[in-house]
Amino acid sequence: MSALDEELLRRLNVLAEQNLHRKLRRVSSPQQPRLLIDGREFLNFSSNDYLGLATHPKLKEAAIEAVERHGAGSGASRLISGSLKPHYDLEEALAAFKKTEAALVFSTGYATALGTITALMSPDDIIILDKLVHASIVDAARLSGARLRVFKHNDLDDLAGILDWSTQQRAGNSKTSVLIVTESVFSMDGDAAPLAGIVSLKEKHGAWLMIDEAHATGLFGPNRRGLAEEFALSDRIEIQMGTLGKALGSSGGYIAGSRALIDFLINKARSFIFSTAPVPAASAAARQAIQIVQSDEGELLLASLRSNIAPFCDALGTTRPEPLTPIIPWLIGSETEAVDFSERLRQNGIFVPAIRFPTVARGKARLRFTLSAAHRREDIERAVQLLAALKGS
Ligand SMILES: *Cc1c(COP(=O)(O)O)cnc(C)c1O
Repeated sequence: MSALDEELLRRLNVLAEQNLHRKLRRVSSPQQPRLLIDGREFLNFSSNDYLGLATHPKLKEAAIEAVERHGAGSGASRLISGSLKPHYDLEEALAAFKKTEAALVFSTGYATALGTITALMSPDDIIILDKLVHASIVDAARLSGARLRVFKHNDLDDLAGILDWSTQQRAGNSKTSVLIVTESVFSMDGDAAPLAGIVSLKEKHGAWLMIDEAHATGLFGPNRRGLAEEFALSDRIEIQMGTLGKALGSSGGYIAGSRALIDFLINKARSFIFSTAPVPAASAAARQAIQIVQSDEGELLLASLRSNIAPFCDALGTTRPEPLTPIIPWLIGSETEAVDFSERLRQNGIFVPAIRFPTVARGKARLRFTLSAAHRREDIERAVQLLAALKGS
């Protein structure tokens, strides 16, 4: 055995001892409420495909057509020769959907956060993050070299205190910019940021605001644009990020904002510049998803998703989230117990992995149930019955 492997096995053992070892599972069905894993069928409560669009016939058709017309790969980065028609079509659709001057698509949401934050911020600057933002935002903030401050989750007083501090710092250096970053709906807790309060604070202090709508795009607001639309705040948020791989059923990430912002990112976002353009199929499918989300069908899909959430929360004995998000965390605490619970559910044909450190803090392990419009009433009922039984046991 090589010295490297010996060391890695030692480290893996440490993870296993802490119940933090993870492994992949081979899913042989499409992403849908019934998953085939190792030849067995499970009811899936772990997908971010909230509207069931990942397997929607129209998305598949759009992807297939894009492959036929534009090929399987995009062949180059966007700034070389890889800017293909499906990318422009998607960016125009996103800007129209989000009602912004422009939009820019990245290959993943992770690359979107990384490229955008590092392009905008430098060691002279200050970045202020909610405690629970996604790893991609934390990594981006660190990589930017900016001074980093973290406010308590959804705590406006804590944010205000940090903004006061940042205003003092800027008194000495007018070049210092301040960027606040939060998710709009939090990926692991399913709760919503107090966006109105954050917007007034950032305006008062002359800071910029970036929100990550990964788990809100397609699900909130009269036109399902996201939580910024729900709270009528879109015009007051400089940088609206989202992903294409959750409710939109495809893959990739986007920034929606001013023309100047997008032009700047095209020139400076390294994860955009030094990376092959998204494959045509992904962009075409995402564009189709945006059309569906905005249509009557989108409204119906959202209605069926919402009608799945309430009975589920009631069965778990958790309060219904407000606004009603499809992410229902069941906090367990201990990593061992969470893994154990997930295993018992699995034995009963329900797939919901334990979410552990480093995705959430140590001792905050949980089962994260996610619901989809594609769940049938009987799926929900089966899960509800089983959960009630396991909870009582
Ligand atoms: C999933 C997610 C991302 C990353 O998006 P990918 O397209 O999966 O890389 C970024 N931010 C949040 C909040 C997410 O949930």
